[in-house]
Amino acid sequence: MQKRNITLLLFIILNSSFLFSQVKFDTNFESGCLGSYKLIDSVTIPVQGKDSLTILNYNIFSRFDPLNPVDTSLSPSARWYYFRMTGVKNKLIYLTVNNSEAIRPFFSYDNKNFERFSADENSKRGRLIKLYDRDTVYICHYIPYTYSRMESKVKEWSENKDVKTRNIGYSHDSLAMPMLRITDSQVKDKNKKIVWIHGRSHPSESPASWHLEALVNKILGNDKYAREIRKSTIFYIVPFINPDGVYGGYSRSSSTGVNLEINWDRPDSLTMPEVKVLKKTIDSITSRKPIDLFLNMHSQIANSATYWIHTAKSTNDAFFAKQLLLSNLTSNDNPFYSSADQSFSDMAPRYVEGWMWNKFHDRTLAITFETPYTYFRENIKGEWVSTQNLDKLALNSLNAITDLLELPVKSRLVVYKTKSYRRRDWSKIKSAQMVDFNGFQFVAKKANATLEYSVSNMESGTYAVYKWVPGPAVNVSPEGTNRWQYLFDITQKRRGNLSVKVFAGTEGDLFNAILLKKVQ
Ligand SMILES: [Zn+2]
Repeated sequence: MQKRNITLLLFIILNSSFLFSQVKFDTNFESGCLGSYKLIDSVTIPVQGKDSLTILNYNIFSRFDPLNPVDTSLSPSARWYYFRMTGVKNKLIYLTVNNSEAIRPFFSYDNKNFERFSADENSKRGRLIKLYDRDTVYICHYIPYTYSRMESKVKEWSENKDVKTRNIGYSHDSLAMPMLRITDSQVKDKNKKIVWIHGRSHPSESPASWHLEALVNKILGNDKYAREIRKSTIFYIVPFINPDGVYGGYSRSSSTGVNLEINWDRPDSLTMPEVKVLKKTIDSITSRKPIDLFLNMHSQIANSATYWIHTAKSTNDAFFAKQLLLSNLTSNDNPFYSSADQSFSDMAPRYVEGWMWNKFHDRTLAITFETPYTYFRENIKGEWVSTQNLDKLALNSLNAITDLLELPVKSRLVVYKTKSYRRRDWSKIKSAQMVDFNGFQFVAKKANATLEYSVSNMESGTYAVYKWVPGPAVNVSPEGTNRWQYLFDITQKRRGNLSVKVFAGTEGDLFNAILLKKVQ
C-alpha cells in the first residue's frame, strides 16, 4: 500500500513539471486579456490499458484596468478575460476565475465559432471544468467583438448607397473612430428625424456590439420597412467610442485607465481625446437642430436588459414619460425585455446623457440601453444571450424607434389624428404624467362611443390595428397599460384614404394613438 502511494507520488511529481510546460497560456491576439494564471495541482491517472487522463487545476486572475488617473478613488474593473490555452487536448482542466464572473462564459476551438460552457461544465459559479477535444482553445467572458470586426462591418455597410462614412477623429493610441451617416440621399434632409447611436464606451460589453450590429443591419435592410425608415431619418452611428479599450482587451476604461463613460463634465485638460472628438462631432451635427433620439449602447452583468431612465425630479415630467414610452415600446411583443426590467437614476453631468441634457434639455431623448451577458428577464431557464436573440431584440429596438419618432413609415404607422368627434361621447384631456403620444387622451363618456382615425395615401393591403393603452408614468406600468393592444385587422382595397373606426368598451376607456401594421 505504502509503496504504491510513493510510486503514485513520484509519478505525479514527474508529470507535474512535464505537464506544466505542456499547457501554454497567451493573449497575443486582438482584445486578448489575462492577468495571470497559476497551476494549483495536476495529476495523471491511468484510465484503461495504456491510456491515462491528465487533470490540471488552474487559478485564473483576470487583469485589472490601469488605475484611473483622472479619479484615483475609482476601483478598476477586471471583467474582461479572453485568453488562449494550447496543449489542452484530452486533458480535464479545472479553471477557477478570479476578479471577474464566470457565468457560463464562452470557449472556441477556432476563435470564430464560440459556444457557452454548459451548465454542467460551470455548475459552480466561477469554476469551469472541461475535457477539451482539440489542442487549442480560446476562453472569454462573452463572444468578442473586435476592432477588426467593426472595421470590416463598417467597410461592408459603406458599400450601401445610403451610407456615408467618415473618420470623426482618433483615439489616444491613434486608432480611427469611424462614423456612419445613414439616410436615403434621394430625399431632402429637412424634415428628417435625427438618431444617434454609439457603443463600446466600456470595452468588455461586447453583447452591446452584437445588438448594435444587428440594428444597423436592419436599418440597412432591403425591405420596404427599412427603406421607408431611411427616407425619414438620419442615423449617425459610432460603433466604437473607445477603440483603444476594445483593441487592448480592457474592461471599463481606455488604455490610459480612464472610464470614458464618466468623462463628460471634466475640464478640457482632463477630457480624453475620444470624448473631445465626440463632443465636437455632436456640436457640428446639432448646429441647426437637436438630435431627436440618442442611444448609448451598453451591456450589464444583471440578468436582464434595461434602459437607465432618468427620474422626473432630475429632469421633468414630460421627459420622464417620454423615456417610459420608448422603454414600453421596446418591451412590446418582446420576450427579451419587459418594463419590469427598467432601471432608474438621476441625470448627472458626468455622463453623455447629462451633457446632452445641459445642452438640449428635453428636446433630445438621450438614454442608455443595456443588454445582459447571461440571460433575459432574470429567467435562468429561458434563453441565454446569443447573437441570434440579440438580433431579434434589435428588431424590437428598431420598432420602438419607429413608433417613438412617429416616422411616416406606411408599413408600421402611428396615427393619432382623428376626424371630428362628438363632444357628448368623448372628452379630451391632457396630462404630462401619462405615457402616450402627443400628451393627450380621449376619454369615453359612454360604452360604444366611436372614434374615427384617418390617414391619407395608404396602399392596398391588410393592416393589423392596435390601440395604445395609456397608463400612468410610474416606475412599473399597471398590468395591461402602456402597450399596444391588438384590436382587429382591416383591409384597404385600393390606395387612398384609410379610415379606422374604434369603439369604447366601457365608459372611461382611454384612446390615444393607434398603430397600423401592414400584415400583407
Ligand atoms: Zn457600460
